[in-house]
Amino acid sequence: MNRKYNATIGLEVHVQLKTASKMFCGCKNEFGAPPNTHTCPVCLGLPGALPVMNAEALRLTALTGLMLGCEIPEICKFDRKNYFYADMPKNYQISQYDVPLCLGGAVVLHDLAYPKDAQKTIATPDKRIGLVRIHLEEDVAKSFHFENTSGIDFNRAGTPLMEIVTKPDIASPEEAFAFLTALKQILIYGNVSDADMEKGQLRCDCNVSVRPEGQREFGTKIEIKNMNSISGVRRALAFEIQRQIAALEAGAILRQETRRWDDVAGETFLMRTKEDAHDYRYFPDPDLMPVQTAPLVEAVKSRRPELPTEKRDRFVKEYGVTPYDAGVLGSDQALSAYFEKAATGARKPKNIANWILNDLQNALAAASLDISSCPVPPERLDALVNLVDDGRINGAQAKTVFAEMFTSGKDPVTIVREKGLEQVSDTSVIEAFADEVIAANPKPVADFQSGNAAALNFLKGQIMKLSKGKANPALADKVLREKLVTRRDG
Ligand code: ADP
Ligand code: MG
Ligand code: ZN
Repeated sequence: MNRKYNATIGLEVHVQLKTASKMFCGCKNEFGAPPNTHTCPVCLGLPGALPVMNAEALRLTALTGLMLGCEIPEICKFDRKNYFYADMPKNYQISQYDVPLCLGGAVVLHDLAYPKDAQKTIATPDKRIGLVRIHLEEDVAKSFHFENTSGIDFNRAGTPLMEIVTKPDIASPEEAFAFLTALKQILIYGNVSDADMEKGQLRCDCNVSVRPEGQREFGTKIEIKNMNSISGVRRALAFEIQRQIAALEAGAILRQETRRWDDVAGETFLMRTKEDAHDYRYFPDPDLMPVQTAPLVEAVKSRRPELPTEKRDRFVKEYGVTPYDAGVLGSDQALSAYFEKAATGARKPKNIANWILNDLQNALAAASLDISSCPVPPERLDALVNLVDDGRINGAQAKTVFAEMFTSGKDPVTIVREKGLEQVSDTSVIEAFADEVIAANPKPVADFQSGNAAALNFLKGQIMKLSKGKANPALADKVLREKLVTRRDG
């Protein structure tokens, strides 16, 4: 980014809630059904039909508020947002205006939420992006535009939709990416939404402005509507920031406007200017009573999960895992559950994390398996780590045992016994190997004794070979050193 300018970004995120039925009627809330098969007079907006609130949608929004640290006002109410459009035949959308269900709160941008190529250059680690509000509304029908006609699918009309509005706290396209990634994880953790952007379950409008370095007031805000991928958000914002800077540098005055992102062309283009803005004439919906929120909050308290960043911090504290490893483990619910099962009561939880994040994940990927169908039960991974820790097998043997555990599911102690893999840690046996190796390799011995430290690795390798890989490498190292130093002195 041009150093003479700062960017300011605020996001408005729409999230489809995972309820069985729609927001104000009993129709099924289901993605992908044949068009117009989940409809009734309420969600078609027929005259005289009356809405009935979906309590689970209110609870899921309250739960999101709890997870994001929002304040939940005592009363929430619904308002009518009036406008005319074909995807909303009753000519108003039921939404929340001045009294949303949740106020404030924040999302923490943990390192791993950033795009991979930006994780080494994070400007503000664990930055908190403040939220303005979260409110609940009904989604509208979905329009389809064909060559000569248009179609509308009312299956989506009236499904519960949560809108999360951030403060203008986001300073770069990478932070916007991290915000959406972290938010999505939290929504999935809470089982509030599947948050699949490709299915439109998570949609986002991006507000962005730039201002010269040192200027206090924000620049003119431009909105990019209806983004449907996280990487698209990053690219669209990067493009738009450069476009705005170039315009200002050329002496142009920016006006408030709404733009659209063309993912193929890789640029934004004008959709409408602020002059076309609606006056929605909000007023309280007379068909819906205000709702007391205390019972909602009470009902979802026990459903609040431990969040990814909370898990990360606890894994570091409780198990001594590195913050990076703890972050990777914590970012996936099933993976972190597997780790906890293996690590509870373990002597070397840090080593267990290593096995999970390297060998186990590689093996799972190679077998196209998910951690939830992992053939190695967590306790057996702990047993493997202990065999190494006790010196019964060495690192190379542990890899062989692990591969066998992964294919046969057998426990590591049995595998060690069956394959005769027990490590040789008997000093007298290792000494005999060492004597043989020293006698057969006068040149490397002389090299080591004249100061070439690397020659010892060669000799150690010869011991491993003689022992068919069973020698305890640390012991081989120690015995060799003792013998060679004694010889030189003697
Ligand atoms: P509007 O009334 O036009 O919808 P809001 O004040 O509701 O504007 O803000 C909408 C979103 O735009 C919020 O996420 C907010 O953080 C963000 N925003 C507000 N002002 C700016 C600005 N100057 N630059 C970038 N984002 C902004
Ligand atoms: Mg707004
Ligand atoms: Zn309906």
